[in-house]
Amino acid sequence: MCTVCGCGETGGHEPHGHGHGHGPHEHAPAGGAIDFGAGLAGVHIAGLTQARTIAIEQDILSKNDAYARANRARLADAGVLAFNLLSSPGSGKTSLLVRMIADLGERRPIAVIEGDQQTSRDAERIRAAGAPAVQINTGKGCHLDAHMVGHALDALPLPRGGLLLIENVGNLVCPAAFDLGEAKKVVMLSVTEGEDKPLKYPDMFAAADLVVITKIDLLPHLDFDLPACLETARRVNPRAAVLAVSVRTGEGLPAFYAWIEARASLMAAPAGDPA
Ligand code: MG
Repeated sequence: MCTVCGCGETGGHEPHGHGHGHGPHEHAPAGGAIDFGAGLAGVHIAGLTQARTIAIEQDILSKNDAYARANRARLADAGVLAFNLLSSPGSGKTSLLVRMIADLGERRPIAVIEGDQQTSRDAERIRAAGAPAVQINTGKGCHLDAHMVGHALDALPLPRGGLLLIENVGNLVCPAAFDLGEAKKVVMLSVTEGEDKPLKYPDMFAAADLVVITKIDLLPHLDFDLPACLETARRVNPRAAVLAVSVRTGEGLPAFYAWIEARASLMAAPAGDPA
C-alpha cells in the first residue's frame, strides 16, 4: 500500500533490524508462493515493524480523511455530485470523460480533475471537449489525495447540479485507500486487461460503488470472458453495480448514464443557487 511505500509523509523509516515482528514462517514459500501481505498491516515494508507500518498508515489516512470530509462538505454545499474514476492506465478513463462531456454536458455542467504523474495531456483533452479541467501532476506519487483535490476545487467552477469527475492516477492499488471526498467510486477495467483483475486487485474492486467494463467493442478480437469477469467482480464486491460499455460504439452507455442520473436525483439541490 502506498501509504507506506515512500510517496506519503512517512516521517522516515526505521533502521532495519532483526526484531521487527515477522518470523521466517511468514516468508516461507507455500506452494511456491510468498505472501508478504499476511501480517496485520497487510503489507511488508523492509525495516518497519507491522505495528509501525500500521501507525504510519493510520496517521496518513486520518489526515487524508480530514481533507476528504472538508471536500465532501464543500461539494454538498455546492450541490455538486463527485465521482472518483479509478483504473489501471489505458482502460479508457479519459475517453469516457470526453464522451460524457459530449453526451451529458448540455444537461449537466461537468468539471474535471485529472491526475497523472506527468503532463497535462488529459486536461487538455478535457478542455478541448468543452469542460473546465485542472491537471494535478503527482510526480513520483501514485495516487491523488484529498488535499490535492481540495486545491483543485479552488480553481474549478462548481455549478449547482453539476458533476465533478475526478480521474485518478492509473493504478489499481494505492488510489483505493484514499478518500477524496467523492460521492461514489467508479472502478473501470478494460477487456484487454484480463477478466481476473478483480481477484488480483481485490482492495480496489471492493472499494467500488460501480464497476465498469470498458472497450467491449473489442470482445470479438479477444479471448476475454465477459460473463466470467462480471461474475468475478460481483463475487469480490456484491454491493457494487457492474456495467459493460463501449465508448467507441456507445453500447452500454445509457445504463451508465442512468446510474449517474439516479445518484444525481438523490442530491437535494435547491435550484437557483449557484455555488
Ligand atoms: Mg487518462
